[in-house]
Order: sequence, then structure tokens, then C-alpha cells
Amino acid sequence: MSQDDESRTFPPQQQEPPGLTSEMQPVPDHGEDSYRGSGRLEGRKALITGGDSGIGRAVAIAYAREGADVAFTYLPEEKADADEMSALLEQAGRQHVAIEADLRDRGTCDRVVADTVQQLGGLDVLVNNAGFQMAREEGIEEITDERMDRVFTTNLYALFWLTRAAVAHLKPGSAIINNSSIQAYDPSSTLLDYAATKAAINNATVNLAAQLGPKGIRVNAVAPGPIWTPLQPATQPVEKVEQFGKDTPLGRAGQPAEVAPSFVFLASERDASYVSGTVLGVTGGKAVF
Ligand code: NAD
Ligand code: MG
Repeated sequence: MSQDDESRTFPPQQQEPPGLTSEMQPVPDHGEDSYRGSGRLEGRKALITGGDSGIGRAVAIAYAREGADVAFTYLPEEKADADEMSALLEQAGRQHVAIEADLRDRGTCDRVVADTVQQLGGLDVLVNNAGFQMAREEGIEEITDERMDRVFTTNLYALFWLTRAAVAHLKPGSAIINNSSIQAYDPSSTLLDYAATKAAINNATVNLAAQLGPKGIRVNAVAPGPIWTPLQPATQPVEKVEQFGKDTPLGRAGQPAEVAPSFVFLASERDASYVSGTVLGVTGGKAVF
């Protein structure tokens, strides 16, 4: 191995968004061979947006192995990942539903919630995981409305639309978990719009916890640091991907399997019944305050 190879974290690679799991080198670890459930989500019914790949896939595997029935959404370009995910859920022996949906549309978000409730027979846990970013060197002068629309609608509008549609179905003891980011605390200038959505998600998480607490619904977020998922080679320049995660105190990127247990904890009425309005960092050591 040359000096150059040793200084790399990941081999050079690039994909078009949204990106596919099978094209990643190495393929991420979603806990397929390691996650052991202990009935912590027995009988729960969960909807996970963007559950075909990355963190969402690891959360879906963990939830199913903890005893939950799982519905997940995916984009049309992600059919291959969605099929793999459905096969993994089938193995877990729980009821599962794969819903093709571009969430940048209110009616689609309403339909996703309605289909989940109809096909699983209810909804107890909403995981607002789907998200989009596109790293750009250009400054604010160059940012286009099209780019802002894609980022703000995917990351924020969809979260509001899905949450609004879900609340009518969520009984006391239910949980909402939003996927935030280290970018909410330590923003990269190349991710100006994305980082702003994640700060807004933290704010909305605390505020929704206050609004929905009287209904017995807990609302929390997880703020991951650099995690090895298709989003990265699909939206970051090749040099960034090679060094991805090296700047953390632990000195490496995390795997989706290392994030999923936090989503299990926050969903569990047994473990987290008094945890609401918090953001749990899974950052490899970077500060989340
Ligand atoms: P990923 O690419 O595996 O998952 C993102 C998913 O979002 C995609 O699978 C896709 O299905 C969904 N999505 C994107 N645009 C959509 C749209 N318009 N409609 C419906 N679904 C759409 O990558 P990931 O890293 O696992 O991302 C999951 C979440 O984690 C995102 O919210 C992301 O911001 C967050 N996150 C990731 C990292 C990281 O380093 N990977 C760090 C912090 C936060
Ligand atoms: Mg995907």
C-alpha cells in the first residue's frame, strides 16, 4: 500500500444522487450480521422514510428484529435497495411494507401515512429520516432556487407534512424521531442550506415535544456525525469522500449499524418513556451543543 493509499479512508468513488448501496466501496454495515433484538419494540408499528439504504436501512433492520412491523419509503431510482430491504425485513419475520414515494409533495406525504396505517393496522413510531444535501463550493451568490427547494422541501416540508398527517393516528406512548445532523451545530460552508434545515429540525423537535407531550407523544432527534451511506459519494466531492470521517475525535466515519441503536432507544417505551425534546448525538466525538 502506498503512502497515498494509507492516508485515505475510502477508495475514490462518486455516484449520482440518490445513490445506491451496491455501488459503494466498501458496502456499509447496517447490522445485517450483528443486530440482535430483545423485544424492545414488540407490537409497535413504525414508518421510516428513506428506509431503503444508509441509516434508515439500519434502523429498519433493528426495529424489525426488536419486534416492530415496518413500513419504509424509497425513491423510484432506489428500487434495487428497496428490494434488498424488503428481503431483510422478510427474514426478520415481521409485517413490512415498501412504499415508493417522492416526499416533496404534501399529497404524497398524506398518502404514505394513510397507506402505512391501512397496511400495518396503525402507527406508533414515525422516523423522519429521508434527507438530501448537495455539497457546493460556490457561495450564497450562486445558490439556485431549485437547489434550495429540493433541500428545504425534502428535509423540512416533508417532515412537517408527515408529522401533521401522523399525529391523528399516534396514541399515547407513540414516538417521533427526526434525523438531524452534526451540521446543525458545526455547519460546513459547502452545506449552507442543508445545515440550516438540520438546525431547524432540532428547533422543531423541541417545540413539537412541547406541543405533543400532553397527547403522550414523545418527540426526539438523533444527530449523526459522518456516517458511511450512499448520500456521501452521491453528494460530496471525491476528495471529501476519501477523507470522510477522519476529522472526528474517533478518527473515522461511523457505520449505519452504529447509529440504529439510538433510534431503538428513543422509540422504546420501556427505555425512553421519559425522554422527549432531546437531540442525541452519534458523532464520533464532535460536540452537539
Ligand atoms: P441515504 O442516502 O442512505 O438515505 C437518504 C434517503 O433519503 C434516501 O435513501 C432516499 O430514499 C431519501 N430521500 C432523499 N430525497 C427524497 C425525496 N425527495 N423523497 C423521498 N425520499 C427522499 O443516506 P443517509 O446518510 O442514511 O441519510 C439519512 C438521513 O441521515 C438524512 O436525513 C441525512 O441528512 C441524515 N444524516 C446523514 C449523515 C451521514 O453522514 N450520512 C450525517 C448526519 C445526518
Ligand atoms: Mg437510498
